Amino acid sequence: MSTAGAASRAGGCLCGAVRYRVGMPALWVAHCHCSMCRRAQGAAFVTWVGTATDRFVLESGREVLQRFHSSPQATRSFCGRCGSPLFFESSRWPGETHVTLASLDDAGGLEPQAHAYWNSRVSWCEWHGRELVHVEPDQGGSD
Ligand SMILES: [Zn+2]
Ligand SMILES: [Zn+2]
Repeated sequence: MSTAGAASRAGGCLCGAVRYRVGMPALWVAHCHCSMCRRAQGAAFVTWVGTATDRFVLESGREVLQRFHSSPQATRSFCGRCGSPLFFESSRWPGETHVTLASLDDAGGLEPQAHAYWNSRVSWCEWHGRELVHVEPDQGGSD
């Protein structure tokens, strides 16, 4: 299966217990600089890929996948064995499952289009990439 035109892509966690598949094309790709994502990932920002929940398939790892409610309406899922951050779902974005771009086996062609919560970005990591639009979905965070 070629990558650019593939109807779906596979991904998984570091230890390999959790494997999943998402439908392509992606709905969007964006870097999120919100404080909740930063803390959950232990990183300056996280790059999310928006995918359609009805085309999301958890192929393995249901028994180790952990789901944390980071707010009443949102969950963050990660591998309970190796800790890899994997999925985000919120009633604010119905029908969407956000997956971490870094957990996909092949990120080719999935170019980030935006910085979400740019105003919340850390001061200790400078951006030297190309210019992207800045979006502030609300004041709080990506929950
Ligand atoms: Zn794992
Ligand atoms: Zn976020």
